[in-house]
Amino acid sequence: MNTVKSIADIKNRISEACQRSGRNSDDVQLIAVSKTLPVDVILEAYNSGLRIFGESRAQEVKEKTSDLPDDINWHFIGHLQTNKIKYVLPVCTLIHSVDSLHLAKAISDFCVKRDIPSSILLEINTSGEISKLGINSADAIEQYLEIRKLKNLNLKGLMTIAPYTNDENLIRQSFRLLKDIRDNLYKKIGSDQKLDLSMGMSQDYEIAIEEGSTMIRIGTAIFGPRGR
Ligand SMILES: *Cc1c(COP(=O)(O)O)cnc(C)c1O
Repeated sequence: MNTVKSIADIKNRISEACQRSGRNSDDVQLIAVSKTLPVDVILEAYNSGLRIFGESRAQEVKEKTSDLPDDINWHFIGHLQTNKIKYVLPVCTLIHSVDSLHLAKAISDFCVKRDIPSSILLEINTSGEISKLGINSADAIEQYLEIRKLKNLNLKGLMTIAPYTNDENLIRQSFRLLKDIRDNLYKKIGSDQKLDLSMGMSQDYEIAIEEGSTMIRIGTAIFGPRGR
C-alpha cells in the first residue's frame, strides 16, 4: 500500500464529495485510523501531513504516543472501559466513543479529581443493530442533555458507525439520523456552539460527507487491510 498516494487520493475524493454537496472541504477533518499499525507506518502518514490519528485500544495508544511526535492529536475511537480511562485521557484530545451515561460519569469524575477538562462525542447507535455499541437513537437527546450537566466535560458532538452493508440507502439513513439528532439538539440548546458529526469510514466516507459529516475516520483506505 502506498500511503502517500492513498492520502492524496482520499483528499481528492473529500473535496469532490464536498463540491457535490456544496460544502467547504475545510469543514471535514480526516482522522487516520492507525489502530494495530506500527510506529514507522504512522510516521509515514505523519510525514505526508496528517496530524490526527485514531486509536481504539487503551493500552496501545498509551504505548504509541510516547514514540511519536508531540504535535499529533490522538483521538480515541474504540469502546472505553472505565478502568482504562486513566491511560486514555492524558494522551487523547478527543474521545469519539462515549457510549453510555455510566462512562460519561466516570470520565467526568476522573477529570474533576485531576482538575482537567475532557472533550468527548457521544456514540449513537443509528443502525438499530444490537451488535453495535452506542446510545439508543431514541434516547439520544435526553442522554445528551443529561451528560451535558456533568462537570469538566466538553460535549463536542455525536459519532456513529453505519451498518456494514452494500445497501447505500441504509448507510445514508444511518448518517441522516445522526444529523437529524444534531439538528434537534440545536433546536433545544441553540446552535452557537457547532456540534461535530463523526461519521464515515473507508467504505462510506463520501456518503457521510454528502450527509454532513465533519470528521471521517479512515483506516483501510489509507493503510491497506489490517493484519488482525
Ligand atoms: C477501525 C475503525 C475505523 C476505521 O475503519 P476502516 O474501515 O479501516 O476505515 C473507523 N471508526 C471506528 C470506530 C473503528 O473502530
